[in-house]
Amino acid sequence: MATTARKPRRTPSKAAAAKRKLIYTFSEGNATMRALLGGKGAGLAEMTNAGLPVPPGFTITTEACNAYYEAGKQLPDGLWDDVVGHMKGVEKETGKGFGNPENPLLVSVRSGAAFSMPGMMDTVLNLGLNPETVQGLIRLTGNERFAWDAWRRFVAMFGRIVLDLKAEDFDEPFDELKKHAKAKLDTDLTAEQLREIGEQFAQIVKKKTGEEFPTDPYRQLELAVRAVFDSWFGKRAHDYREFNKIPHDLGTAVNIVTMVFGNMGEDSGTGVAFTRDPNTGEKVLYGEYLTNAQGEDVVAGVRTPAKISQMRDEMPEVYAQFEEIAQRLERHYRDMQDLEFTIEGGKLYMLQTRSGKRTAPAAVKIAVDMAGEKLITRDEAIQRVDPAQIVQLLLPRFDEAAKATVGDRLLGKGLNASPGAAVGQAVFDPDRAVAAKEADNPVILVRIETSPDDVHGMLAAKGVLTARGGATSHAAVVARSMGLPCVAGAESLKIDYAKREMRAGSVTVKEGDVISIDGTTGEIFAGELSTIEARFEDEHDLATLLGWADKVRRLQVWANADYPRDAERARAFGAQGIGLCRTEHMFFEEDRLPTVRRMILNAHAATAAKHKDAKERSADERESVKVFDSALAELEKLQADDFAGLFRAMDGLPVVIRLIDPPLHEFLPSHEELIADVTRLRTTLELAGDGSLGVDAGLVQQGLVKLFGTKDAARAMRKIGLSKPEPGLSVQAFDRAALERELAEKEELLHAVEAMREQNPMLGLRGVRLGLMVPDIVKMQGRAILAGAARVAAEGKTPLPEIMIPLVGHVNELRETRDILEAEVARIVETSGQQVTYRFGTMIEVPRGALTADEIAEHAGFFSFGTNDLTQMAFGYSRDDAEGKFLMQYVDRKILPENPFQVLDVAGIGQLVRIAVEKGRATKPDLKIGICGEHGGDPQSIAFCHEVGLNYVSCSPFRVPVARLAAAQAALSTTETRDK
Ligand code: ADP
Ligand code: MG
Ligand code: MG
Repeated sequence: MATTARKPRRTPSKAAAAKRKLIYTFSEGNATMRALLGGKGAGLAEMTNAGLPVPPGFTITTEACNAYYEAGKQLPDGLWDDVVGHMKGVEKETGKGFGNPENPLLVSVRSGAAFSMPGMMDTVLNLGLNPETVQGLIRLTGNERFAWDAWRRFVAMFGRIVLDLKAEDFDEPFDELKKHAKAKLDTDLTAEQLREIGEQFAQIVKKKTGEEFPTDPYRQLELAVRAVFDSWFGKRAHDYREFNKIPHDLGTAVNIVTMVFGNMGEDSGTGVAFTRDPNTGEKVLYGEYLTNAQGEDVVAGVRTPAKISQMRDEMPEVYAQFEEIAQRLERHYRDMQDLEFTIEGGKLYMLQTRSGKRTAPAAVKIAVDMAGEKLITRDEAIQRVDPAQIVQLLLPRFDEAAKATVGDRLLGKGLNASPGAAVGQAVFDPDRAVAAKEADNPVILVRIETSPDDVHGMLAAKGVLTARGGATSHAAVVARSMGLPCVAGAESLKIDYAKREMRAGSVTVKEGDVISIDGTTGEIFAGELSTIEARFEDEHDLATLLGWADKVRRLQVWANADYPRDAERARAFGAQGIGLCRTEHMFFEEDRLPTVRRMILNAHAATAAKHKDAKERSADERESVKVFDSALAELEKLQADDFAGLFRAMDGLPVVIRLIDPPLHEFLPSHEELIADVTRLRTTLELAGDGSLGVDAGLVQQGLVKLFGTKDAARAMRKIGLSKPEPGLSVQAFDRAALERELAEKEELLHAVEAMREQNPMLGLRGVRLGLMVPDIVKMQGRAILAGAARVAAEGKTPLPEIMIPLVGHVNELRETRDILEAEVARIVETSGQQVTYRFGTMIEVPRGALTADEIAEHAGFFSFGTNDLTQMAFGYSRDDAEGKFLMQYVDRKILPENPFQVLDVAGIGQLVRIAVEKGRATKPDLKIGICGEHGGDPQSIAFCHEVGLNYVSCSPFRVPVARLAAAQAALSTTETRDK
């Protein structure tokens, strides 16, 4: 390189900025210029260059909009002259004159950003009209009615959109006139009536703004262009960008388009159409049109439009031409298009084309069909569908036809927190939801909000409805993870737990009344709405698309499943293994809980006793050991059955079973609850005395009410058999002994809970630590796993158990646990006489574990990232506290870009993952590594897992198809970047 000093490069001067091209005629632009011309402008340019009939016009660039803001809302230097110059060009092309009464040119002024965006300025049509040009229009067309219709529309539109008047300012007098004239529709009004109303509108503008309605066409144009620019920072547009994370410096373009008139008579019209059905994806022209109408009329519902197919009969030639253009545009853009058109005196004009929005089923069908038609490649088809949308295809949904007839049964609307439709009896309590399920009644669990205490009720429910909380509230997060429809934060509902009812306006829903909730839309209905069950086997297009995805992806997709029925479902969805079975869920089952508690209450004592020589143990110690061992033996049998079921369902595929993870006291009643119980029992006993002289029930009741309130007092009174206290002494039955026994039991539980209580259970005695302190529990689990596997092997199937040890932070924890387990497990395999292969592996979920993964890998047959705990511990957040207290605010205030429990934090947690992968594979190059945290089902996080070279992601069964597609997209996007 030469070393001569160069002059510092000057930043572009004002003059240079002014020289930048700020206006493009439609023939100068093209589809790739979206950022500069906005979506609408780029589309008009592309259509013009393709030779389609587009009225002449031009686009003022988004850069001009940004320059306008930089200059403090001043049109950039030279822009106006440039606009005028381009208007001359349009005059020449059309042979008309802007403001020329002989042959007036009229235009529309349309905003258009790179992304279509609600909140931007509405389009102004018929700009350039004034009392003189209206006369010209009448002379030229000989259609007085049309001219006055155009005029009154223009004055109202300009008044509302550019001059900020209210729609009612014009709508009210207009309706008044219609009523007066006994006209049902706009089209019933006469030319004279329309002229009058136009005149009246101009007066309204004068009255409201204090100025004459602007009649100079160029003045009109300037005001309209400025209004478009101003709308970019209007509140609605600003909020929309905030919400959708669209940058504020993109700016909007302004399109100026020669007017064509759909309101010139019955051989004119206007319409909107999609090149395929946006609901089903079917390959048919889909849309609506209106004859003798202009612009917004179709959407605004002034008259009911006709189906586009009707145009085939009414205007066969135009229809044929439009159909041909629609197909051409679809082929050209290689995507389904959403089109706007106008017919003026039998001649067709195209006014807009853009990729059409579509439902999930349509997205899948269109992608698969287009690949079949060779319009796009299979790889493109894979990339066309948003993985998140797929979930919708797998959930039952309401029949739209049924929805259309509900009328006032719509109770309200909340957040569409977890998609799908659910119907059931409203139940306001989780225990009663479980009871109802057992009685085979489908229920919707309705809560003000949910917490971990409600999960059993959620599991029993068909859907969840809450009055409070957002898209990341407990209800929403848990429901999504369970594939359960959920409507959250329906704040208009007044839920009353005590009365077991909720009120929605004037309607009261009692517990047991049937309601329907739509988690896809957030709607809540009284009564039952019929649903259509989604059947994966019947989703042929989805199966085709996922089949293509499977060929492309490198990541395997496994599922998290605790029960055989979940495993079966996961397998049907294409899961290639079980990445996480949480054994403790099996402990929580009601009929097992007493056994589990016996085991826990004796765990520590028995373990200590077992360190002593059997002869030296005290009677108490011997009893502890006996009870503990017998409880374990019972659990071992049950768990062996559980595991056998899983192995059967996953015949030939790996099943990762995690050994017990939570702290033991999670299986016991809460400390607070026990304290309350013990206090109540003690006080009751004290107040009641020994009952030998009779009990003054009235006094007892008074005492209890004072201490515990009416409700709890009533409960205590029932317990001692004094539910109907009569004044004076009573010698009613009073079973003091029973009460004392209960107290003793509760006190024992309380002591145990107190002994096990931890300041910070999340960081306490759990996971591998617990296994090392009470090895018998994990030994039992190890034996049960292998016994279950041996049994299934004996049936001729191929179980592939993988035993996973949670929460390892130091290599010695893993080594020692492994030593303990290996001997146990080997013994079972040997005595079974079956050939069973198994592995030991570990979760990487403690930051230190990730950092020392090279050491840990020495003793691990596989790694699985538990990214929930890894996120908790590396951020120093406890998830339950964080999500309830500050995390959502963090996301709102952009302190964090995303909830890190939903989308893996690549910058931080991602580094730990990367380090662990590198170090682990440095020790064992072919170490199998997966992820089993909730992130395994999130497309963005899956892309990261692909990039760092994991072998698989594991997610909830319902997300398996989502993950298959996301994994393929990740594979395709990395090849793309590599090829570039
Ligand atoms: P939006 O983005 O809300 O669709 P548009 O700018 O596309 O707004 O216009 C609104 C309506 O006006 C559409 O129906 C469109 O077809 C119609 N329209 C826009 N410009 C013209 C024009 N020059 N001639 C006739 N109709 C027009
Ligand atoms: Mg439009
Ligand atoms: Mg964990």
